[in-house]
Amino acid sequence: MAEVKYIFVTGGVASSLGKGIISSSLAKLLQARGYSVTIQKLDPYINVDPGTLNPYEHGECYVTIDGAETDLDLGHYERFLNTPTTQANNVTTGRIYKTVIEKERHGDYLGKTVQVIPHITDEIKRRVQLVAEKDKHEIVITEIGGTVGDIESLPYIEAVRQMKWEMGQNNCLVIHLTLVPFLSASGEHKTKPTQHSVKALLEAGVQPDILVLRTEKELSQDVKEKVALFCNVEKNAVVQSVDVETIYEVPIKMLEEKLDITALRKLNLGMREEPALVKWRDFLNRLKNPSKRITVGLVGKYVELPDAYKSISESFIHAGAENQCEINLEMIHSEDITEANYKAKLHHLDGIVVAPGFGNRGIEGKIDAARFARENGIPFLGICLGMQCAVIEFGRNVLGFEDADSTEMNPGTTHPVIDLMDEQKSVTDKGGTMRLGGYRCIVKEGTRVSRAYGKSEVTERHRHRYEFNNHYLNSYSDAGMVATGINPGSELVEIIEIPAHPWFVGVQFHPEYSSTVVNPHPLFVEFVKACCIERSNNK
Ligand code: GLN
Repeated sequence: MAEVKYIFVTGGVASSLGKGIISSSLAKLLQARGYSVTIQKLDPYINVDPGTLNPYEHGECYVTIDGAETDLDLGHYERFLNTPTTQANNVTTGRIYKTVIEKERHGDYLGKTVQVIPHITDEIKRRVQLVAEKDKHEIVITEIGGTVGDIESLPYIEAVRQMKWEMGQNNCLVIHLTLVPFLSASGEHKTKPTQHSVKALLEAGVQPDILVLRTEKELSQDVKEKVALFCNVEKNAVVQSVDVETIYEVPIKMLEEKLDITALRKLNLGMREEPALVKWRDFLNRLKNPSKRITVGLVGKYVELPDAYKSISESFIHAGAENQCEINLEMIHSEDITEANYKAKLHHLDGIVVAPGFGNRGIEGKIDAARFARENGIPFLGICLGMQCAVIEFGRNVLGFEDADSTEMNPGTTHPVIDLMDEQKSVTDKGGTMRLGGYRCIVKEGTRVSRAYGKSEVTERHRHRYEFNNHYLNSYSDAGMVATGINPGSELVEIIEIPAHPWFVGVQFHPEYSSTVVNPHPLFVEFVKACCIERSNNK
C-alpha cells in the first residue's frame, strides 16, 4: 500500500476562522480528484468527548453513526465529503490522557516516568495514524483545535513537529490558517498578526508549508508576497480565503486559489482528474436562485447561539436548495412562548420545528408550539425532544390526560407518555451512556415518511434516554397520532405522524446529522416541500 499522506491544519491570530471549513473544502477537492481522504479533529480540552458539554460551550454535539458524541466540525466533514465519520475522527485531550493513564495503571510503561513527551505525543500520533488505517485512506487531514500559542495545544503541535520530522517533507504538510485584518482608517491590510502567529509555530519547531489567509477583502499580490517572504513560505503557497456568502462556496474559492494543487505538489502526489464538482455547483446554483421563500420557526432553548443547532440549520440549507426555496429560519426561544402569546408568536410561520434538548427549561413553550402546529395545519417536524413534546401535547389536549408528561420533566406524572428506556434505569454516569448512534427503523408502508424515504427500512442516528411509552400506543393511534417508524428489535417508536394533518411528523432520532450537500435528508426535503405547498394554498 502506498504511504499515507498527512495534512495538519492549525490556526492562528484568532479563533473561529473556519479551520473546519478550510479542511473540509480541501478534502472535498482532493476527493473530487479521486483521492480517498478523511478529516480528523483533535480538540485540546479535557472532557473525554463533548457529550457532557452544554451547547453554549462549543455549539451542538454531533453524533456519528457508530455512536460517538463529537465536535460539530465533524458535521461539516460529513456534509462536505458525504462519507461517514466515526469516533476515530474526533479525539480530545481527555481521551488521550485517559488512554495513557489507563495504560500506566495497567503497567504498560514498565516502570518508566510517564510524560507529555514521549507518552502523550506518542498517543496523539497513534490516533492520527489510526484514522488512516481504519478505512485505508490515502490522505488524512487533521485539524488541530484552538489557536497556536495556547498552552493546551502545545502537545499537539509537538506531535506534528515529530511526525513531520519522522515522515519527511513530502509526507506531512502543515497548513496554517490566519487572519489578515483590513484597517479602514489607513486603508490597508495588516500582516503583522500573521507573522507573529507563524513565529509562535516556529518557536514550537514547526514551519508551515502553506498559509491560508482569511480576509474580508481581496488581498493584493504585494500583501501575499510580503507574507511569503516574512513567513518563509513559497509565494504560491500563500492563498487567500475571502469572506463568502455561504460556506459551501469555499471549495470553489479554494479551487480557484489552487490550494489542492499546491498541497498535492508538496506531497509529491499526482494531480489525477481536475475537480468538476458538477453536483456541488448545481447545488450552489439552486441555493442562490430560489424561486420561492418560506419562514420556518425553530423553537429551542439555545437559540442565542446559532451553533447549538448547526446541523439543523445546515439541513435546511440543503433541503432549501433541493426545493429551490429560500428558507428564513427564525430562531424562537421556547422560554418566550407562553399559553397567552403562542398564537401571536407563531401565526406567521410556514412551518414549525421543535428542537432537541434536555431538561425542563423552556419545555412548556415547545409543547405550545407543537399544539399550535397541530391545531392550525402548519407543517411540523419534531426532532427527538421535539417529538416527545408533540406526544405530550397530544396526550394532554386530545386524549385528555391532563398531566401527561415525560418522566424526565415530571417523574411523578400519572401519564408517563414519554418514559425512561429500561436499559437506562440503572445508568448513573452521564458521559456516553445514552442510546447513541445508528439504529434501524422499519417505516410503515403508505405513510408520509415512507413516501419521503422511498424505502421501508432506514438507519438513523440517536441521542436520547427517554422514549415513547408503548403502553399508550393504541390510545394514540385510535385518536389519530400513529407510530409509523419502529425499531425492529426493541419495538421502540422511532417516528410518529398525524395522518389527518397536512404534514405532522415527529422523529425520536436526529435526521439532521445525516443531511449532506449531495444527499439532503428526505424528511427535511419533504417538510420544506409541505411548507411551500401550505403557503401557496393559504395565499
Ligand atoms: N431529553 C430527551 C431524552 O433524553 C431528548 C434528547 C434529545 O432531544 N436529544 O430522551
